Amino acid sequence: MNPLKLIAINISIPLFISLTLGSLIFYEKKIPEVIFSIIPYLFYAITVAILWISWHFNRNRFIFIILPLLLIYIAFEHLGAKRATDLFLYVSMLYPLHILLFLSLKERGLFSIWGVLKIAFFIVEIAVVLYFVFYPNSDIITLLKTKLFTTSFYPIEDIALAIAIFVITVIAILLIFNRSILYNSSFLIIVLTFYTGFYFIKTPHAKELLLLSISIIIFILLIRESYRLAFYDELTSLPGRRALMEDMAKLGMKYSFAMIDIDHFKKFNDTYGHDTGDEVLKMVAAKLAEVGGGGKAYRYGGEEFVLLFPSRELDESYTSTDTLREVIAKTPFVVRNKQNSKKIYINISCGVVQKNSQDKDPFAVMKRADNALYKAKKAGRNQVIKA
Ligand code: GH3
Ligand code: MG
Ligand code: MG
Repeated sequence: MNPLKLIAINISIPLFISLTLGSLIFYEKKIPEVIFSIIPYLFYAITVAILWISWHFNRNRFIFIILPLLLIYIAFEHLGAKRATDLFLYVSMLYPLHILLFLSLKERGLFSIWGVLKIAFFIVEIAVVLYFVFYPNSDIITLLKTKLFTTSFYPIEDIALAIAIFVITVIAILLIFNRSILYNSSFLIIVLTFYTGFYFIKTPHAKELLLLSISIIIFILLIRESYRLAFYDELTSLPGRRALMEDMAKLGMKYSFAMIDIDHFKKFNDTYGHDTGDEVLKMVAAKLAEVGGGGKAYRYGGEEFVLLFPSRELDESYTSTDTLREVIAKTPFVVRNKQNSKKIYINISCGVVQKNSQDKDPFAVMKRADNALYKAKKAGRNQVIKA
């Protein structure tokens, strides 16, 4: 899919949640109070679900991102006005930087060295914030309230605003360079929601709606992440075998299917190493992902890929597959080692079939495609054979 379209889709989901819930503060008078009284409990329930799922899927960064919100909320509820105001000041600067840090750290087990360091860092953060809440230092507070801009976004101080702009810019740049679009789209909206909510903090229920929006956005992100883990191949980012089986089961009577295998890949691995082999797999996958003719690419396993063409005739699918074969054959792959770099050309062989009335199930279609692929290998490789 076109990256811009992908970013737009990934942003629209959290944006919709944030706008819908955020707009409720403007209808505060018309909405029964009981609805608002449920919000904190919804937030607690979703937070517990996030903690549980993150723990099970080893997506610990979500624990470190949702837990501070829970602590902030509890603190706001229990601190007096003066201390809550100071907490607001610190948190408005610290939390977005905290998000950025934990987004960029790699996922590790919570009880690995890195996991323990993260926990220790988090505890230090909490301790420092609590210390300054209970023992406020007027010099530091004056410093944090330094004016930087001519307009004021009170109660958000200028330094917090500068941090907001910085964090939003970093996430936006990562998005533009297609870095984890799934995560960065959601976190862009989370940071925006955080600051909008803080800007309206004095408005009744803004705080609760802000927390609920962020928790729902993270919850949906986790669900989508689990889906991605189950259906997408980690190395190439193509949908995997499970996704292929699901999609084939959904297809109608008419479709074509191409089985693809990289030529002499074992030799390539033996010559240039497994890591370089992985890079080739990524390159081939990226080319296959651009398949035309309404096709969709899957990583079937190892160095084998599949193209599925719903409602396509054999000849059309053959043409699309052969175009890809040619593109891949003509794309140089640069292998670098210490002394020099070398251009290498990779070939693929393919077998294309169209589902017919004798094929009892998707496996029969696959078997015929595999036979055609075998013929392509026999016939000298770097070619597409129609069955
Ligand atoms: P042919 O032209 O007949 O297909 O020869 P081939 O060497 O490609 O065929 P074979 O199926 O024997 O070898 C496939 C090789 O693919 C073996 C394995 O080392 C390599 N391979 C499978 N999965 C991966 C992977 O994820 N990464 C890397 N680097 N290599 C892989
Ligand atoms: Mg093979
Ligand atoms: Mg092969």
